[in-house]
Amino acid sequence: MSEYPLAALASSPNRTPSQVSVGSDLYGRFQIGEGTVTVMAGPCSVEGRDMLLETAHAVRASGAVMLRGGAFKPRSSPYAFRGLGQEGLDLLAEARASSGLPIVTEVVDARQLESVVAVADMLQVGARNMQNFALLAALGEVNRPVLLKRGLSATLKELLLAAEYIMAHGNTNVVLCERGIRTFETATRNTLDLSAVPVLKLETHLPVIVDPSHAAGRADIIAPLAAAAIAAGADGLLVEVHPDPKSALSDGPQSLTPSQFDALMAAIAPIAALTGRTLTRPSCLRGAGAVAAPSRQAAARHASSTAVPA
Ligand code: PEP
Ligand code: MN
Repeated sequence: MSEYPLAALASSPNRTPSQVSVGSDLYGRFQIGEGTVTVMAGPCSVEGRDMLLETAHAVRASGAVMLRGGAFKPRSSPYAFRGLGQEGLDLLAEARASSGLPIVTEVVDARQLESVVAVADMLQVGARNMQNFALLAALGEVNRPVLLKRGLSATLKELLLAAEYIMAHGNTNVVLCERGIRTFETATRNTLDLSAVPVLKLETHLPVIVDPSHAAGRADIIAPLAAAAIAAGADGLLVEVHPDPKSALSDGPQSLTPSQFDALMAAIAPIAALTGRTLTRPSCLRGAGAVAAPSRQAAARHASSTAVPA
């Protein structure tokens, strides 16, 4: 038996790569995976209402189809900004209602799962939590797709086994994310392991996206890394964008301005086409502002769809 019977490419009918559905009836749905390129963008951290709404509308206008932003931040120092918590989640819900973009946000601890699920369309597992097996098991029991980031020093086999944990607990909607690994090189924050993309494609049917922002740690090389990731076959990108990177409370040096992000989107569209994929466009979603600000009832409806389907 394969070490990862659920995640292995061989376990998929005819060895076909799978697609993971994201979104909701209210805001619209699309598939991540085979044949498409999905771009998720937004600030590292949710810092406040204005910056989040400004970023959400800007990245949508440039072609992103998901808004990223952390409300709970894993930080190396306990004294660094660790996110706005519940207030950040409420702002993400408002940004979704205003921009129409589905939300991907990190869940750091299984104890926050219920409140994060209440607003998130996709749950991010950070690199530092890739082997938090209690969290992975808990994520197996919710009805939300999971974005699983590769650990700083994790092998691809360990990444696949972490995905297998989530899948073995009942949630097979997992997207893998290469975000750079620790090496001796100091010119970049991490080293983007581009070989992860084709290797994972040979091993698993799960979609694979690339986060060039955390790999590089510097804004000036994000665009070529993003282009290379798409050329290597990545199913999408996770990119940090901030309206004023210099003032960002986390990861400013690697954050793109909205206009730099716009240029990146223009550069990757032809590469997606050359590799036979279609860039998923925001037109698959309801129009920006088409959905009224979330009422408590709407939030409750979103939250009530958390049970794992029988
Ligand atoms: C992030 O996405 O902001 C983040 C903390 O990423 P990682 O877990 O890959 O460091
Ligand atoms: Mn970050």
